[in-house]
Amino acid sequence: MRSCFNNYTMKINAAAEKIIRRLEEAGYESWLVGGCVRDLVMRKTPSDWDIASAAPPESVRKVFEGIPVIPTGLKHGTVTVVMDGQRIEVTTFRKDGDYSDGRRPESVQFVNDLQVDLSRRDFTINAIAYAPGRGIADPFNGKADIARKRLRTVGNPDRRLGEDGLRIMRALRFSAILDFEIDRMLSSALHRNKALLRRIAMERISAELMKMLPGKRIFEILTEFPDVFEVFMPEITPCVGFDQRNPHHALDVWGHIASAVEAAPTDEFLRLALLFHDLGKPDVFSVGDDGVGHFYRHEQWSERIARKRLNALKFDKKTIQGVCELIHWHDSVIDKRHITRWLGRLGETRLRQLLEIKLSDALAHTETFREKRMVEIARIRRALDQAIADAHCVRLADLAIKGGDLMKAGVPEGHMIGKILKALLQEVIDDRISNEREALMEAGMAFFRALEKGDREG
Ligand code: ATP
Ligand code: MG
Repeated sequence: MRSCFNNYTMKINAAAEKIIRRLEEAGYESWLVGGCVRDLVMRKTPSDWDIASAAPPESVRKVFEGIPVIPTGLKHGTVTVVMDGQRIEVTTFRKDGDYSDGRRPESVQFVNDLQVDLSRRDFTINAIAYAPGRGIADPFNGKADIARKRLRTVGNPDRRLGEDGLRIMRALRFSAILDFEIDRMLSSALHRNKALLRRIAMERISAELMKMLPGKRIFEILTEFPDVFEVFMPEITPCVGFDQRNPHHALDVWGHIASAVEAAPTDEFLRLALLFHDLGKPDVFSVGDDGVGHFYRHEQWSERIARKRLNALKFDKKTIQGVCELIHWHDSVIDKRHITRWLGRLGETRLRQLLEIKLSDALAHTETFREKRMVEIARIRRALDQAIADAHCVRLADLAIKGGDLMKAGVPEGHMIGKILKALLQEVIDDRISNEREALMEAGMAFFRALEKGDREG
């Protein structure tokens, strides 16, 4: 094996180092592997430390008798050693059996050889090992790929993607996040094998999607691989190459979406909202008498698409609700004179997110439009800061009365309470009532009587 026994010394985690030393003392060759070595070579601080060892799980347990060893994935040879309060995974060197489901090997075989273990790993940059005292083991030239910022599979890309379709998403994720170029052979294999993603659980696809969205290279990934994203987001298809016929847009709909995602802060939630924000455009396209393209009510269509697709992708309710709310309002005009109304409607956090969405959207337009919008958004931000500084009451939680107070005064539990509180909040925001208990109770009960009367009269 081509390992370099150099004097490469790396700053490694003390608990991981201790585990390796104890395993080696017991006669089991052990190495740091995977993401942590990649990060060390890139001079980044690893988030977790994985160890590969010749020791079978039972032997790991014996070596660490007296400290907690959790059987995380015994079938695959993984246990978690809790050393000095830190959880570190130790996996026995292994070779994967056949992959019949396109996701997981049918069986794994424990082996005695690091190189065999490294050869089952997905990309060369993830197939480097390091051991204190021995240095780096790099049989697939992962270090050279890191230096050249290039993503390659260990071995033939078609075969490696065929074994596990999730590697398609992992490839896009590593390229986006690390800003690495995808090797030509791998790139064509990604296009060729995209249908394998159909066998992958939606939860895993969305997890990878969220991890890649903050990536520096996300624009290139979205625009070079729309066909891959289409496998789980078919609504992309009509957007690709769709000419907007609008002087504010130099890009087609998909290009604009990719550009807005890239322009956004590196926050996966905001970027997810931008990924969907204009997908409804092709459905509502019209051309005015002047030959200019319009997309009336595209935000409603996009919202509908987002809700359906995010549900299918098994996103949680809170994320779906938040993304849909942002898409719903993304094209609305926010008049800075009505900023407190917007605050009442969306709350401060969501309103600030909406302004980020609007800014990213604007940045993905042609220059003249962009400048004008940026000035507008900066003004709205200032108005918002001012409103927050002045505000005594901008959210339901800040109202001087609660639903319980209304109930005690005779309003029945149910939808009426919310209606009354919202109406009161608007009155307070618009300065028609003061945020004081007595005034609110009086106005609240007047609302209640009016609502009751309305109900009675049908
Ligand atoms: P990060 O933790 O930063 O997301 P990572 O490279 O550590 O990235 P993990 O998913 O934690 O990724 O996996 C650890 C290592 O296990 C990888 O570096 C790789 O060597 C191997 N690995 C993980 N998933 C796969 C896979 N689907 N196919 C092949 N090897 C994999
Ligand atoms: Mg990891």
